[in-house]
Amino acid sequence: MTRAPAIHRKGFGLKEHIEDDLAQKYHSHTLAYLLSHGNELHLGDLHIFLANKFGFCYGVERATEYAYETLQHFAGRKIYLLGEIVHNPYVNNQLRQKGVVILNGLQQKQMDYSFIRPQDVVILPAFGVTHTALNRLQQRKCEIVDTTCGSVLTVWKRVEYYAQNGFTTIIHGKYPHEETIAVCSQISKYPAAKYLVIKNATEGMSIADFIGGNISKKEILRQFTGRYTTGFNPENDLQKIGFANQTTMLGGESRQIAEIVREAFAARYGEEQTERHFRSFDTVCSATQDRQDAVRDLLAAGDLDMMMIIGGFNSSNTAQLMQIASESVSSFHIQDPGDLISKQEIRHQTFPAMKVRITDNWLPDGAVKIGITAGASTPTRKIGQVLYRLFELKNIPAHQIKRIVNAT
Ligand code: SF4
Repeated sequence: MTRAPAIHRKGFGLKEHIEDDLAQKYHSHTLAYLLSHGNELHLGDLHIFLANKFGFCYGVERATEYAYETLQHFAGRKIYLLGEIVHNPYVNNQLRQKGVVILNGLQQKQMDYSFIRPQDVVILPAFGVTHTALNRLQQRKCEIVDTTCGSVLTVWKRVEYYAQNGFTTIIHGKYPHEETIAVCSQISKYPAAKYLVIKNATEGMSIADFIGGNISKKEILRQFTGRYTTGFNPENDLQKIGFANQTTMLGGESRQIAEIVREAFAARYGEEQTERHFRSFDTVCSATQDRQDAVRDLLAAGDLDMMMIIGGFNSSNTAQLMQIASESVSSFHIQDPGDLISKQEIRHQTFPAMKVRITDNWLPDGAVKIGITAGASTPTRKIGQVLYRLFELKNIPAHQIKRIVNAT
């Protein structure tokens, strides 16, 4: 007898069974203390300033909880994860150590899921999976635990609206980030619908130039090769544009692109006709925006010597924090405390080249003021460990920090 495949989207009510495990793996008592005591710590030569918002967002917390509940609820079953649950190696490794098998997310389209049996369980990550991947999994009749974040689903709804109403969706996003690929797949459900992915305001200008008749169709097709729907024809498909963004982009840049494109339509057709040609909906999620705002506030408040940005090297929202910080002060994007190799050497990912390299002589002698933030998929525990490592490199032993934290 065949049975309908189950898709679980609400967790399993097992929160109290996983709380201790989650707290032990992801929480930092020290960080919790600092967040309720002014976000600063000054010991010896080292002055630490924390951003007001950083680390796990609501979507990542929810996805992590669902994954841990899944392990309890389906104990003894084979559990797969379609791609990384979030873009943080520590979080993924924790699941791996519990027996979860991570399938390569970027290959979802080509993937053959025939090895998945009905009794198996597949967890879908916070940034969602493609429509095709979901269909194929459903054909396997397995249990599916969908942790797709509500803010990602908002983007899906928006682009489906555009697809159903004859608008080509322009997505400000990173191709091939899993979230953007999944968004494109929601559009591809509609055979006549089109999309185009753009990465920055410069590319937004190209679209505006095309609308204004200043560059050719050939140039658009060349510039955006591999980032539009099969059969995309700029002459027909850039007449009506609906704008959306990957949830983790720079909010300010997304709004700027939307305005550039809107103005191009206004110049061509007149202000009163613009709405017929252009719709926009800001889909940068509030968690991303809050973290970006908090970094700007931190940079504006102080006279920092450097910023430390903690998060997975493949984390989009962490890269945006790095971009903001690096425009103002010397900044290092690291994954975990092990990247603080010594006083002399730091392993970090550069921006905008996104290359992992080791830099010498990064930590000055004498007084240093360091700002700290972390991407939405970085556990607080990792941030706390970085903090302890920074003090260690400045010859402040851990017990001095613990004495302050435990004194309350
Ligand atoms: S960054 Fe935003 S969209 Fe992504 S999981 Fe967090 S809340 Fe959801």
